[in-house]
Amino acid sequence: MHHLPDGFVAGIRTQLESDKSRFTLRIGELKLQDPFTNTDRVNDNAALDLEADEESAHDRTTALIGELKYKITEIDTALSRIAQGIYGICVSCGKAIDTDRLRAMPTAVLCRQCAAGKENKP
Ligand SMILES: [Zn+2]
Repeated sequence: MHHLPDGFVAGIRTQLESDKSRFTLRIGELKLQDPFTNTDRVNDNAALDLEADEESAHDRTTALIGELKYKITEIDTALSRIAQGIYGICVSCGKAIDTDRLRAMPTAVLCRQCAAGKENKP
């Protein structure tokens, strides 16, 4: 009784799992690049402007890590919905989310109409 084409969910799951491991790796890289977690800078007499650069680099890194962690949370939600057999069903109205939307946005939990309605609310 599944509304989605054969193999569609399997393909989405593969994509989500590969995105998740890519994002997880990226978070690891970002943490290594973050000057605030770089132990080499302990005795560094950096000029104030360099410190400021490091601080804004740190803020950017933190923001990026936060974004990636959020994406991973969305992926986990989608994966658990696949496991429960409710993937592709709008959490708001219970109708099927169309496959074009799922292809473009595999972590979508709202159908096009509900997503649009949500954005239009004050
Ligand atoms: Zn809906």
